[in-house]
Amino acid sequence: MMPKAMFRSAGGAAVLAFVAVVFQGPALAKAADPGTAAHHRVVLPAEVTPDHYRIDITPDAKALTFKGDVEIDLTVHQATDRIVLNAADIVIDSAALGGEATPPAISYNEKVQTATFAFAHALKPGSYTLSLAYRGKIYQQASGLFALDYGAAAGKARALYTQFENSDARRFVPSWDEPGRKATFQLTVTVPADEMAVSNMPIASTDALAGGMKRVRFAETPKMSSYLLFFGLGDFERIHRDVDGVDVGVVVKRGDRASGAFALDAAAHILPYYNAYFGTPFPLPKLDLIAGPGSSQFFGAMENWGAIFYFDRDLLIDPRVSTQGDKQGVYITVAHEMAHQWFGDLVTMAWWDDLWLNEGFASWMQLKVTDHFHPEWKVWLQALQEKQFAMQTDARGGTHPIITPIDDVLQAAGAFDEITYLKGAAAIRTLESYLGEDAFRAGVRRYMHDHAYGNTVTDDLWAEMDRGSTRPITQIAHDFTLQAGVPMITEASARCEGGATTLVVTQGHYAIDPDSTAARVWRVPVTAAVLGSPPAKAVASGERPAPITLAGCGPLVLNAGQTAYFRSRYSADGLAAITARYGALTPDDQLGVLNDTGSLARVGEAPMSAFLDLTSRFKTLAADPVVIQAAANWLSGFDDLYEGLPTRTAFRAWARSVLSPSFARIGWDKAPGESDNTALLRASLIDALGNFDDPAVVAEAKRRFVGFAANPSSLDAATRRSVLGVVARHADALTWEALHVLAKAAKTGLERQELYDLLGAAEDKALAARALDLALSGEPPATTAPEIIRAVSFLHPAMAFDFAVAHWDQVSRLLEPTSQARFVPELVGQASDLALIGRLDAFAAGHIPPTARQDLIKAEATIRYLAKVRSERLPQVDQWLRANGAADPGA
Ligand SMILES: [Zn+2]
Repeated sequence: MMPKAMFRSAGGAAVLAFVAVVFQGPALAKAADPGTAAHHRVVLPAEVTPDHYRIDITPDAKALTFKGDVEIDLTVHQATDRIVLNAADIVIDSAALGGEATPPAISYNEKVQTATFAFAHALKPGSYTLSLAYRGKIYQQASGLFALDYGAAAGKARALYTQFENSDARRFVPSWDEPGRKATFQLTVTVPADEMAVSNMPIASTDALAGGMKRVRFAETPKMSSYLLFFGLGDFERIHRDVDGVDVGVVVKRGDRASGAFALDAAAHILPYYNAYFGTPFPLPKLDLIAGPGSSQFFGAMENWGAIFYFDRDLLIDPRVSTQGDKQGVYITVAHEMAHQWFGDLVTMAWWDDLWLNEGFASWMQLKVTDHFHPEWKVWLQALQEKQFAMQTDARGGTHPIITPIDDVLQAAGAFDEITYLKGAAAIRTLESYLGEDAFRAGVRRYMHDHAYGNTVTDDLWAEMDRGSTRPITQIAHDFTLQAGVPMITEASARCEGGATTLVVTQGHYAIDPDSTAARVWRVPVTAAVLGSPPAKAVASGERPAPITLAGCGPLVLNAGQTAYFRSRYSADGLAAITARYGALTPDDQLGVLNDTGSLARVGEAPMSAFLDLTSRFKTLAADPVVIQAAANWLSGFDDLYEGLPTRTAFRAWARSVLSPSFARIGWDKAPGESDNTALLRASLIDALGNFDDPAVVAEAKRRFVGFAANPSSLDAATRRSVLGVVARHADALTWEALHVLAKAAKTGLERQELYDLLGAAEDKALAARALDLALSGEPPATTAPEIIRAVSFLHPAMAFDFAVAHWDQVSRLLEPTSQARFVPELVGQASDLALIGRLDAFAAGHIPPTARQDLIKAEATIRYLAKVRSERLPQVDQWLRANGAADPGA
């Protein structure tokens, strides 16, 4: 699954608003012990397991219901008088077991979402077939079988899709809905003859029926987990091509063919690469990428085997409105879900404890393949920002180990977070870099080969890596996956002698708040170098000094290449030396030094002046676009904290002086032959300078908007969203209404969603309030309404929070169940006002179950941290600004 990772903030900047933890209990900070965790698991009894499902579904899209019949071939392993399986929101009208004359008694347990079939006597071990006739619901948010409505050429249209991860297949078919209960599936559907039906496998047969209906039977799937089953139905079109003998297709709503071409090209590149990398070719005859209109507050795409679902904006590229960032995002999302076709679908975690095996791996693999085909996008460099994001969460209260004990499926929903995805990916990169690319790939191939169609735990992967290896990784891997937190490597001393440097480092713990400061020991693979000389490696562990001998003398670089997951803390002299030669560092190391220095300065572990001196260098440094973008993000982060403070004016003037020279170099319009990432940077700088009230940028954006209103093609797609973002942020009532008219008239779903989001971006409080009212007016599409509230929360967290709480009955109906515990904490999750904590608690007491509060805990930890930075660090920034003559707003 791809969480809703890249939320476009109203200003157009990509803001990581990662799916946060939902149903996770608080006691997860301790290392997982799979042995004891198993005792608490709520799982189905093991006496009976499924082998094969024959499912027959007739949806009634209009009535939002469906009828189903299923025959389940199953094995009774031990005599039992009952069969227990999962079912939720399903009514079973009849049940029969082959060979049994009397039908079983049916009972339900709604709490654990099971149905029990009780027999008058014990069933002997052996093979049976259970036949059920049942009815179910079609939902209007993305869980189970769900409907998405949209405007089509012929009026309102409705399409159906399914979303089962982590545990909603039970809303579609009574089933053993746990990842370890693999079986084969054969789906048949009775549907309108003029609509296209899609599932995991190709269509085996179609029969015309009376009344404009047809019966479509899909080929049988390989053995797989229930959460990977898919069914889609609608007025679709499909573009496709043969790739390595696999029929690869993109399925879109009628009229969207052209927008699917980019994703089809991406998939056609990626499939042969994965076939080679994994050493096991994609095992299904076809692979569809299916786009659906709308959005979810929980996820962007889902890796159903052979039938990957994406929301439109995660798959479609519309040349009129899609930015360079959108293109990279689509490519990466396609790569992520395709990686799951192996990691997750072919080999699946036995239980949700090991969800990271799916998600951390796919999040790493997406970068590896994208870097292979698009090295110019520098996705590894960009991923350093994601690592930074994961580290900030991992250093605060509410974090958890990558491998986390999960007791039940509700708690599993909470595991889809930045620790599982981003720290997971960073841990894999740390290990690959330590082991070497070839040895790591060989281990992955053995793992795929040995466990195909099966289930695993994480140690199965490490065992394959260590088999025959001279450099075992299991212990290091355990340190990074079984305990929470961010290791810190400190430069203890460095001595130059005879043309070589002896660097001594120690390992500590980078932590932001008291909840997370306990001493922790990791075995950390450290790569270090003297600037310009080859690197050397060592493993540092605990306070024991680890000496590393480096060729050459001069400024030192810790974590050279930045491939490992740890914070680097330089000595004062070391930091001064590396800052003085900052321009000579590689972009990766520039970004690493920037993020480490900024993060340490924000918690008082490095002088704020060191960070500001470093940032000042961007006035004259022609750095990589990604690095400049990161500097802009840091400045925007500080600017947010200045909300309401009189010294904000001086800070903004200085921030503009840092970024303006870079913007002057690249200008407003694309230059011939410029890199794709220059376009990304241009958008970021327009966003940032617009946020800092740069008069020239705001005036030019407004001028371009006037031209755009008269002639929409006057703005090119690459800067369109940023220009509109600056205008929306600075909007007056007339401009806001002009954007509103554009939103109502939008030709495509992508454009409509973008413009409605922008209506929530105004600084003006009265306009923000209008946007909130608009969200619930019934005018915007149902799944867009929560997005507008979220857009308002960026500049007006308290207002968005109060509104959502006051209208919770209405708002909660617009959210799928998996998002309900998360939505409100996220609205204030980047705020710095301590008063919000009490209000959050009051809301939680009535609306968030105690076991679903992990996201709340994280949001509150963030608010405390940001409030502390605001009160303790901003005065240091002000002091530095005065000392450097930057306090004059005219500077
Ligand atoms: Zn995923």
